[in-house]
Amino acid sequence: MAAAPVLLWFRQDLRLADHRALSAAVATERPIIPVYILDDETPGAWRMGGASRWWLHKSLEALGADLEGLGSRLMLRRGASRDVITALMEETRADSVYVSRSYEPWARRLETEIADHLDSKGRTFRRFAGGLLFEPEVPKTKAGDPFKVFTPYYKACLALGPPKPPLPRPKSSLSAPANWPRSEDLDGWGLLPRNPDWADGFCETWEPGEAGAEVRLQRFLDGAMAGYSDKRNRPDIEGTSRLSPHLHFGDISPHRCWQAVEERLAADGQGAKGGRSFLRELVWREFSYHLLFHWPHLPEKAFRPEFEAFPWDENAAALKAWQQGQTGYPIVDAGMRELWQTGWMHNRVRMITASFLIKHLLIPWQAGEDWFWDTLVDADLANNSASWQWVAGSGADAAPYFRVFNPILQGKKFDPKGAYVRRYAPELSKLPDDYLHAPWEAPEAALSAAGITLGKDYPEPMVDHGKARQRALQAYDVIKKR
Ligand code: FAD
Repeated sequence: MAAAPVLLWFRQDLRLADHRALSAAVATERPIIPVYILDDETPGAWRMGGASRWWLHKSLEALGADLEGLGSRLMLRRGASRDVITALMEETRADSVYVSRSYEPWARRLETEIADHLDSKGRTFRRFAGGLLFEPEVPKTKAGDPFKVFTPYYKACLALGPPKPPLPRPKSSLSAPANWPRSEDLDGWGLLPRNPDWADGFCETWEPGEAGAEVRLQRFLDGAMAGYSDKRNRPDIEGTSRLSPHLHFGDISPHRCWQAVEERLAADGQGAKGGRSFLRELVWREFSYHLLFHWPHLPEKAFRPEFEAFPWDENAAALKAWQQGQTGYPIVDAGMRELWQTGWMHNRVRMITASFLIKHLLIPWQAGEDWFWDTLVDADLANNSASWQWVAGSGADAAPYFRVFNPILQGKKFDPKGAYVRRYAPELSKLPDDYLHAPWEAPEAALSAAGITLGKDYPEPMVDHGKARQRALQAYDVIKKR
């Protein structure tokens, strides 16, 4: 009798290189049935957002083609993961499931449920590491607790020794089952936006999938890495790697990124400062996962409970102006429009726009988190929730609430020539540099020479920075006294 196949369940690990579950499945010498399940039921409120769905479609296309190159196929099924796995095991007579770990609270519950279910039936469920450099249970304080502060966490990670080197992609064809089960049609899943205009900017900006991730990595190593520590805060230039969506979907593993940087530093030592600072940012990603793992309510509830009583001002019209990049603050508007057009926003501008929403408009951070969840191609439950809480001041190792970003000074400092604002708010492009980050300060003559009537071609500022700052600090006083 033919050996029972192994179900290889892909989730946020849409690659063939450095894939521990895949390598282990190959080592069994049994037929392998790769499957991806579109599960909109189990994640509840955290089902994938619109921009992520676009990425998923493209990345699955790429993975399917790569698997075909190895004589295999990617089976696509939609439904509750547990039901789909059970049905597929029946259909294919597979007796084991191999999967890479996921760390979202709902995904962890699901893994335990499926593991128990399969165990009760005498079947095998094997989970493999791969999406993180350090498993979230491993770094511990001296007292054996999880970390709440980044720097000691970072040091503890480094003390664990270098991350495991990445595994190679399988060299020979994958063993195929005698009969392939039925697969659904990717186009039929409706993952691409109904409004094709939305996806146009994504297509111009990104190449989802493993090959695209490798191109991004090489481009970073050859380009931005050397100046990363100085330029990573500049949205007007390509100063960062833009690997975040690839890392989120697992088009590439963090181990591969780590190793590539280390190898480059060992070969020519150039850009050591930039390379090390990039590796540190990779560990910030790990820290977000560490926090989410140990505090699973992080996406919904303030880490610091006193923030639950914060006197927010839930203003739907103000939220909409922010979402649409119509606040009247150029750096904020440019960021929100970059997000809409490309599905990504520079980290510095994420901080500025998030701070504006929370502190200038007093809108709850969860409303911003939701918008980012729907519009970012790198929307990531751990990074998004930890970062929003960081900006709000309600997080573990957070920026203090009373530090209110001044969007004019931030713009002048990090977009000094205004190239970023001019790219995403072209109606301001003719305004001289001196007024670009505060158009309302421009003399009438400068505005009219630039073809701008404030309130018509570009909004008046929706709040006054000084007054908004005062209001934010007064609101903060309410919870400070608790
Ligand atoms: P690089 O600077 O090249 O860094 C390399 C990698 O390190 C990134 O790809 C990312 O995986 C990780 N990284 C870098 N900065 C951070 C950080 N501050 N926190 C955690 N990991 C980091 N990142 C997401 O991946 N998904 C999100 O949903 C997300 N939401 C955010 C929301 C807010 C309000 C803020 C302030 C930040 C958010 N970030 C999020 C973190 C950060 O902005 C992005 O990871 C970064 O901009 C991605 O660009 P890059 O790949 O060029 O980063």
